[in-house]
Amino acid sequence: MRIDIVSLFPEIVEGVLKASLLGRAVDEGLIEVAVVNPRDFAADRHRTVDDAPYGGGAGMVMQCGPIFDAVESLRGRNSCGRVVLMSPRGRRLDQELVKELAAAPDLVIICARYEGVDERVSEALVTEEISIGDYVLNGGELPALVMIEAIGRMIPGVVGKWESVDTDSFFHGLLGPPQYTRPTEFRGMKVPAPLMSGDHAAIGRWRRKEALRATRARRPDLLRNLTEEDLELLAETGNESPAPERENEP
Ligand code: SAH
Repeated sequence: MRIDIVSLFPEIVEGVLKASLLGRAVDEGLIEVAVVNPRDFAADRHRTVDDAPYGGGAGMVMQCGPIFDAVESLRGRNSCGRVVLMSPRGRRLDQELVKELAAAPDLVIICARYEGVDERVSEALVTEEISIGDYVLNGGELPALVMIEAIGRMIPGVVGKWESVDTDSFFHGLLGPPQYTRPTEFRGMKVPAPLMSGDHAAIGRWRRKEALRATRARRPDLLRNLTEEDLELLAETGNESPAPERENEP
């Protein structure tokens, strides 16, 4: 997969992309990432990329010209034509969207600064706006990196074992089950017996049940499309809260 990032601060992005699992994925060619700086496309000798907002008000707005030129310089590399703008008003990033983005052959991601971009960038250049949550950061670089790291986990080979991804929270629509490691007993607290049974079917069942229990306790909004077996497992956990109705039932 190829990702082109449009940013006034390449150094923020490049540091993270060199480190850890993501860095290795880039080294191994699993993800190809490049940063293009709109400032390199500024028309004047001061390399201006922003100006005061029409109508007045605080702060500066990123101008159309350098952003359009930066994105258009990527033509040919951006085969699917997806151009994302990181923006607090965008669609909220979640695992579904991450999976969808990971399936694209390439992406262009625009990181804004200051008060954001001239609206005509949204109107005529961008295909979608994405937010990482209902709060405001100083720029789109950290949001873009959050999104890229999540996309990276979906690309086979980036995380050593696919099973780690497959059991992640949200991957199958539920929170992940609790995890334990040595010792078997710590200050009187024991590792649940099924995990030590060596019986893979029992372990799988226990994990599904605990994933359901955790999801019901913390994120009941995620409990959708449950199977008959899920409902039985939930019933076994006792009724900490009422069992949810199965969706799409006649
Ligand atoms: N005045 C703008 C915020 C500008 S913050 C507003 O009220 O919406 C500057 C830039 O940081 C944004 O244009 C966006 O690119 C990025 N940004 C800030 N918070 C973000 C968030 N929650 N998700 C995605 N991008 C964000």
